Amino acid sequence: MANDVVTIDDLIKKVLSYNHDADIDLLKKAYTFSSEAHMSQTRIEGSPYIEHPLAVASILADMKMDTTTIAAGLLHDTVEDTITTVKDIKGLFGNDIAFLVNALTKLSKMEFMTKEEAQAENFRKMLLAMAEDVRVILIKFADRLHNMNTLEHLPDSKRKRIAAETLDIYAPIANRLGIGWLKTEFEDLSFKFLLPELYGEIVKKIAKRKEEQEGYLKEVVGEIEKRLKEENISGKVSSRVKHSYGIYQKMQKQRITFEQIHDVLGIRIITDTKANCYAVMGIIHSLWTPVPGRFKDYIGVPKSKMYQSLHRTVIGPNGERVEFKIRTEEMNRIAEDGIASHWRYKEKGAFNEKDSRYISWLRELIQSQKEFSDAKDFLEEVKGAVVPDVVYVFTPKGDIKELPVGSTPVDLAYSIHTQVGHRCVGAKVDGKIVPLKYQLRNGDTLEIITSPTHGPSRDWLKFVVTQRAKSRIKQWIKTEERKQSIELGTKLIEEDLRRHSLGPSMLKSDKMLDIAKSLGIQSLEDLFVSVGYGKLSPHQVVNKLLPEKPVEEVVPKTVKPPAEQKGISIKGIDDILYHTAKCCFPIPGDNLVGFITRGKGVTIHNRNCHNLERLAVDDARLVDVEWKQEGDTTYPARLLVETVDRPGILANLSALISSVNVNIRHIEASSTPDKKAHIGFILEVKDKKQISTLIQKIASVDGILRVKR
Ligand code: MN
Repeated sequence: MANDVVTIDDLIKKVLSYNHDADIDLLKKAYTFSSEAHMSQTRIEGSPYIEHPLAVASILADMKMDTTTIAAGLLHDTVEDTITTVKDIKGLFGNDIAFLVNALTKLSKMEFMTKEEAQAENFRKMLLAMAEDVRVILIKFADRLHNMNTLEHLPDSKRKRIAAETLDIYAPIANRLGIGWLKTEFEDLSFKFLLPELYGEIVKKIAKRKEEQEGYLKEVVGEIEKRLKEENISGKVSSRVKHSYGIYQKMQKQRITFEQIHDVLGIRIITDTKANCYAVMGIIHSLWTPVPGRFKDYIGVPKSKMYQSLHRTVIGPNGERVEFKIRTEEMNRIAEDGIASHWRYKEKGAFNEKDSRYISWLRELIQSQKEFSDAKDFLEEVKGAVVPDVVYVFTPKGDIKELPVGSTPVDLAYSIHTQVGHRCVGAKVDGKIVPLKYQLRNGDTLEIITSPTHGPSRDWLKFVVTQRAKSRIKQWIKTEERKQSIELGTKLIEEDLRRHSLGPSMLKSDKMLDIAKSLGIQSLEDLFVSVGYGKLSPHQVVNKLLPEKPVEEVVPKTVKPPAEQKGISIKGIDDILYHTAKCCFPIPGDNLVGFITRGKGVTIHNRNCHNLERLAVDDARLVDVEWKQEGDTTYPARLLVETVDRPGILANLSALISSVNVNIRHIEASSTPDKKAHIGFILEVKDKKQISTLIQKIASVDGILRVKR
């Protein structure tokens, strides 16, 4: 990779060399936009910034990428480093390029750890969070490659950090994606900056070896070419030098010196068919003596990656060892370009948008791997990387968050901060509002919408998956229930005080505290909680303030003078937690009673509800309530009708109910052997008056035997 400055004309020429009808206007437009956006910036070495995106695009052109990828390469730093927004890119260049640039921007904000054990994790993150489209990684690679090529301009510490990251993260990823040449480049460049002296030494020795063996290799190459011609086998023969980091690794691993390495130089033969690979090997055998055990058939038994080749070492003309690698054009392309070969520009519009998605690549890969004996291992490896038990999402600032699969915006909110969780009212994914129980997907950018007055709901417990969210919600509910109990208790005592013509000032008086203590309760708050929680009746408390009057210990609610009986007005006390009982369907206007639940506020029942008799053995937990009809609000009410079983009766009744503007929520009907029918309705009514009128009307219908709620 040369450090020569690339111009837009160079780039266009390069693209046209493999893609004759490339969209040159698009490339020019991207170039112009990028150079204007980066106008005021320079690279660290002082050159105009645009040289960098141009170089990146040029690397992508070397990889024979499609114009979309190359244009995205030209634009890859505009959102990250200039005032340009993804929206701008979308408007000017469309969805695909905007997607790529956006993903690259996110990627650049991702901090990699260089610990060995973090590698696999980072690999997965890179694949999953960014690579909905593998072109993102390819552009990232090109970006890193150019940065590595210009690393000498950075201060030493920074240089070493970036080189280490390249060696630990980028090279293995390139390797796992099967891009052999990039892996080699990344390794050699990192080696150069991490261990400059050792690197220099090895490079010098390689050059020397090459010089020494040049004539010798020429001889070998000539010999083979001659024989291939005679046998009428097509083949390109070239000599190759093992890359410096590979040599270093081999020296380390086998504890040998450079001089003991025999395959520093090798010969590569590219032929046309698989059968000819073996034919070429036959020719080599006929020319020189094979070194026993130095044969590897990665065609019959491929390595678990996308690598197929025959490796054969022989004793060459001067008694020197020579290693041959024999493969087809296709095998070579896959070995060198790996995943990138699937994104290459293809003639005749064979490049399909859907093809460009990682998943479809995978499918293709799965197909092509079927014939291989160790395809299973390969697939397990790929699957492991693709079907994870975690999802990676982004905050609007670009922070990456890892959450268990199935997590929701609420889980994310609690993972940010408890208060964010509590105040969470909604979420946006990539700008669109989603429900709180939306299941997060890889790569989502999530914005949590909060409201300072909002609190969590018990319902959230049904869909959150993280332990943190669960425990924080439960904790909040517990605190909230205590608050509710305090308010309810306060209200109940206040009410009783008023009944005895005592002012609310008594509520927080020293006398009240004395009462609390006499009941074994340490604070006023706890006293109110006890009442609100139904452990203590308000009478038990207030009676202690009235020593001179003999009072009934427990006043049955039913005998209280109705005029005085205001009870708790549910309406107007918004904060008090109440709900209507599901057994008796109370509605405004009914004779009602409240039942103080343990910590969940008041349940409103009809006073004649059978359930209530069973529940309210303890009168202290019953409280009077007044419930005013509020606007057009309707409440569910149940109506039971017994009728003679005749055709059309149900239709008649339904029509009648609808005619008085009452909605039917639910109907249940059954007939008895004695020709009677029982029909149950759940209706939506405003108040008692409305349902009473309806009952009268129904009762007057022919054949109706009984109507009751
Ligand atoms: Mn860059």
